[in-house]
Amino acid sequence: MKIRIAGITRESVVDGPGLRAVIFTQGCPRCCKGCHNPDTLDPNGGIEMDVEEVLEELGPLKLIKGVTFSGGEPFIQAVAVAYLARRVKAQGKDIVTFTGYTFEELMTLSQRDEGIKELLALTNLLIDGPFREEEKDLSLSFRGSRNQRLIDVPKSLSSGKVYEYCLE
Ligand code: SF4
Repeated sequence: MKIRIAGITRESVVDGPGLRAVIFTQGCPRCCKGCHNPDTLDPNGGIEMDVEEVLEELGPLKLIKGVTFSGGEPFIQAVAVAYLARRVKAQGKDIVTFTGYTFEELMTLSQRDEGIKELLALTNLLIDGPFREEEKDLSLSFRGSRNQRLIDVPKSLSSGKVYEYCLE
């Protein structure tokens, strides 16, 4: 199975709680003014890799808390990203996913898209919504604008309402 990615960072402390590896997926259908990763927008940019190669590139996951999927828009390659997320979680690590969609939009899309449904279900922390320059706030954890939320996905899916993720 193939995935188009913009890059991999093995160690980051700014892309979710704790020490994390980050996979930047390539391609985003939005064009947010002030986008923090403009090089990742072109769906034909970046490089195409086999998902097994991506796992090899990540290397041993022992020292990290989990893996973050950023972009670009991870949910436009949801089947491949969900495959990676499943393999990462099998090693006891957690998943953070950044998305320009809102949680509610993903819930609607997941009714007809199994990949989106699975990636959502595998995500522990979802950072949702597009970047809005007029709501930019540099004091926020992990996100760039005030409309974006930190969502505890397992709790939200089981309760049917949006739960904020508690940062320890
Ligand atoms: S959703 Fe994210 S990656 Fe896509 S254009 Fe907006 S800020 Fe950039």
